[in-house]
Amino acid sequence: MLSSRFKNLHPYVPGEQPKDRVYIKLNANENPYPPHPSVAKAVSELALNKTEKLGLYPDPDANELRQEIATMLNKSGGVLCNAWTDGDECTPDPKDMIPFEVTPDMIFCGNGSDEVLSFVFYSFFDSDRKLVFPTHTYSFYPVYCGFYEIPMDQVPLKDDWTLDREKMLEDANKFDSSIIFANPNAPTGISLSRNEVAAMLDRAPKDRVFIVDEAYCDFGGESCIPLLKDYKNLVIVRTFSKSLSFAGMRLGFVVANPELIQAVFTAKNSFNHFPVDNVAQTAAIASCKAVSYYAETSRKVVEQRESFTDFLKKNGWFVIDSRTNFVFAKKQGHTGEEIYQHVKKNGILIRHFNTPGIEDFVRITIGTPEQMAALREVLFDL
Ligand SMILES: *Cc1c(COP(=O)(O)O)cnc(C)c1O
Repeated sequence: MLSSRFKNLHPYVPGEQPKDRVYIKLNANENPYPPHPSVAKAVSELALNKTEKLGLYPDPDANELRQEIATMLNKSGGVLCNAWTDGDECTPDPKDMIPFEVTPDMIFCGNGSDEVLSFVFYSFFDSDRKLVFPTHTYSFYPVYCGFYEIPMDQVPLKDDWTLDREKMLEDANKFDSSIIFANPNAPTGISLSRNEVAAMLDRAPKDRVFIVDEAYCDFGGESCIPLLKDYKNLVIVRTFSKSLSFAGMRLGFVVANPELIQAVFTAKNSFNHFPVDNVAQTAAIASCKAVSYYAETSRKVVEQRESFTDFLKKNGWFVIDSRTNFVFAKKQGHTGEEIYQHVKKNGILIRHFNTPGIEDFVRITIGTPEQMAALREVLFDL
């Protein structure tokens, strides 16, 4: 009864969401801080006083939200932890300043960046051409390649866990194909600078889109949004799930030049007109307006990341310096699975991988100071 395409499906396995007991959850890179109170207020206001909206279709193109996202990017420069804040005021750190105004026609919104990525894959990648990406990067990319029957060219990381940019470019030129990677990358946490990405764009095929997934950029990466003016084939994917405490509400977006955004709209309108419901649009608009709060929470996460990295190093761990809200680390004499089990027994969930090459590592999401203190206690006995 199954379609011939079905055999290509290899579903993504997300971080576990157990029901058997209450764990400290440091396994899915969710934000440990709640959304700003104005978000809850906007949602209850919608439910209680504009109840009819729950029975009506939302704006299919999320126009008000796209305007608010553009404003938020212009105010923060796309790296929240660096943004200067003063009460509700928020201005980009000079090094993150976007040298043009991001406008709503450069934004596309979807139901989480996973969905946004699916529209992007559908719009720009073909089954007659290999898509180039690193062996270790966001593990949804190979899943979508299976779904859309896109052949893959997975380029191993270098010995220092950085992207092999030379090999990726060589392959992209050989196949005249697209490149996709996360920057900062997952699960390594390593970030390329904007200049390094620009140098890749200079040498990558100009008639193919080049995708940078900036899911973690707000925690200290360098955003490539400023490059959009010079590179018409650049597509940037971002999410509200991590830095904007929105994983449970689902919102992801694309930033790109208007012609490419129009293409993604066509894919969306051929699949589901209304991927972002009225509750999510209302909540996301309120989140954008509270941008300075999220700059503060991003800074708190970064502070904990730095002190936790120090702790691990002092205790004999190998830790990759991270620009994200997680750390990727290993300790000699233990597999990732053993560390995961030890920590889980003590009521804390982290993530390990069975992927060849990274079995020794665990990926630990950065939580509140209290959560990280609890984890330190548990790791002392390892
Ligand atoms: C978390 C994550 C996503 C998915 O985010 P959602 O918006 O929650 O779907 C996409 N890309 C990377 C690299 C991520 O880590």
